[in-house]
Amino acid sequence: MDKKYRVGILGATGTVGQRFIQLLENHTQFEVTALAASVSSQGKAYAEACVWRLPGEMPASVRKIVVEAPRPPLNCDFVFSSLPGDIARETEASFARAGYPVISNSAAFRMDEDVPLLIPEVNHEHLSILDAERKNPDRKTGIIVANPNCSTIMLAMALAPLHARFGIEAVAVTTMQAVSGAGYPGVSAMDITDNVVPFIENEEEKIERETLKILGRVKEARIEAAMFPISAQCHRVNVLEGHTAAVRVRLSQKASIEDVRDALASWTSLPQELRLHSAPSQPIIMRDEIDRPQPRLDREAGDGMSITIGRLAPDKVLDYRFVALSHNTIRGAAGAAILNAELLIAKGYFNND
Ligand code: NAP
Repeated sequence: MDKKYRVGILGATGTVGQRFIQLLENHTQFEVTALAASVSSQGKAYAEACVWRLPGEMPASVRKIVVEAPRPPLNCDFVFSSLPGDIARETEASFARAGYPVISNSAAFRMDEDVPLLIPEVNHEHLSILDAERKNPDRKTGIIVANPNCSTIMLAMALAPLHARFGIEAVAVTTMQAVSGAGYPGVSAMDITDNVVPFIENEEEKIERETLKILGRVKEARIEAAMFPISAQCHRVNVLEGHTAAVRVRLSQKASIEDVRDALASWTSLPQELRLHSAPSQPIIMRDEIDRPQPRLDREAGDGMSITIGRLAPDKVLDYRFVALSHNTIRGAAGAAILNAELLIAKGYFNND
């Protein structure tokens, strides 16, 4: 049996933190040894501090772990962070300064030049921007690797095979995002019941800029962002889990609808080759029924790690349109970060030598 890495979770009592704990319960490489959250949770056993809101029981292995302040040192080899944006930057930096690898869900470092914004299937070669730092014998800090915004992950995964095969000239995306994307308690029931809210703070900007960084290329140890225009409009809808996006895309090269479908359906990448624990065998599942994908029916595809695409059709304004769907707290958050950690370990980025 290979070594198990000891994991700390910052923001462990929250929506994403609980998902981390659920997904890590039977993980072959990781065991949860440290949990951190706000002052109101600190000093309490996790079972007392956390109101468990996922189906099934809170894993027995974490119930007695005492919740600490998100401050190094913690009893772990690396940390997953699902802290709120306003405190994430300083806290995550303090763990990196103390030598911990930090795998972050928050927006704090996503656009920093020296931080890979990683989706293992899409841009694993961006990890090379960490190499100079890694080879520096005086290196004192841990690495920070971020996963993108939950809707961005889905969009970038859908665009990546099209960009690689045909090139992309322009994208318009309209999202319909689940309430769990806002954390707990999130959007008030009075605001979202019988309603659609056409505003999610900073979301449109995040989707537009993060997607271009993710689909960029590494040039001279820097990421050169992709250049095409993206227009995003975001809506909060009365769905518990599962973000949906209606996407229109203009391609650089002419492609038949069969070519486009094949590019999406046949796409696999390094996580599938390496058989990483959390990698779905099919990153994109194509559905040909006229009324799919739907959040209730498709969010669990590939244990929540596949995205589902349907409604692929020619578009009268751009070239093609389709609807994508993914599980926002699994592929869009905790599952994404766990897959990132698995890839970093497989590529040797957690070793200090
Ligand atoms: P959440 O449900 O509100 O949970 C926030 C967590 O952070 C809780 O554990 C909370 O602890 C802790 N926390 C709050 N203030 C703190 C402080 N001052 N010091 C230490 N810990 C503090 O939020 P969430 O939805 O899990 O989101 C967490 C992060 O992940 C955010 O940056 C968010 O943007 C990102 N994210 C979320 C999703 C999603 O689908 N929800 C997807 C992608 C990324 P207490 O319980 O003790 O208050």
